[in-house]
Amino acid sequence: MNINRAQIIAGNWKMNHGPHEALEYFQSIRKALPESAGIARKKLVIFPVAYCLTSAIQAMAKLANFELGAQNVHWETKGAFTGELSASVLQSMEVHWALIAHSERRQYFGETDETASKRFLQAAKLGVNIIYCIGENLKEREAGKTEAILSAQLSAFSKAVLSLGARVKADVGTRMGARTGTSAETEAKGKSTSIWAIAYEPVWAIGTGKTATPEQAQAVHAFIRKSLEKKVSEEFAADTPILYGGSVTPQNTEALVRNEDVDGVLVGGASLKPDEFAKIIKAAI
Ligand code: PEP
Repeated sequence: MNINRAQIIAGNWKMNHGPHEALEYFQSIRKALPESAGIARKKLVIFPVAYCLTSAIQAMAKLANFELGAQNVHWETKGAFTGELSASVLQSMEVHWALIAHSERRQYFGETDETASKRFLQAAKLGVNIIYCIGENLKEREAGKTEAILSAQLSAFSKAVLSLGARVKADVGTRMGARTGTSAETEAKGKSTSIWAIAYEPVWAIGTGKTATPEQAQAVHAFIRKSLEKKVSEEFAADTPILYGGSVTPQNTEALVRNEDVDGVLVGGASLKPDEFAKIIKAAI
């Protein structure tokens, strides 16, 4: 981790937990996490299922110092898009984070680099904080194609970033340690204060118990940063938090985040139990 970049510990509940369990979760994790300066410096984010994003849960999440995010957002504000979520409505509900292009969306729901970029652009324009996922599958890794796959995924992301124009440069440094802000606040300041993070999630490591080694993670994260440097800019690359995701546990977190280019973790299975996730957060401090 590098203290000049936002450090993020995020939990993706996928299609697990209902509203009642969510409330209990935040009550438990609040007790399990002592207030400390180390924790206060981290961004703690949970991506629950959409039906858990009600005001009571938001209030409880806030008490436990968590911010909430949606597992997906659509590129339009509203309309005939059955099953999709509007980033603009989420912002008004104080849900200020969005997970975009998760491998399960790519694998099972037809998400492509093109649709992911459109979602990114809509969320970015509204000032939503974004975790944009990329990663290779086992076949691609074994065929030595990891860098080519990531490079293609990053090209789509970078093209979207560059299409936002001058804003990109003006925002660097502001987004770095930025607090989340509402879109109204964002407009008032005349610029985005949102964070755009990349999550490197090798598909072969997601839910399999096979974590990338700290060396493998650092090598790939350094490659991602170099690619962002070439595709967007040096400042943008230096500023962008890159998270690791894929079978993160309390046992392997510390070694992963000790790397210069690993700015946090995106956790699936191990984020479902408040005690386990609290251990991961403590290990990342
Ligand atoms: C994920 O879903 O983003 C993930 C990393 O899952 P897991 O931690 O269970 O591998």
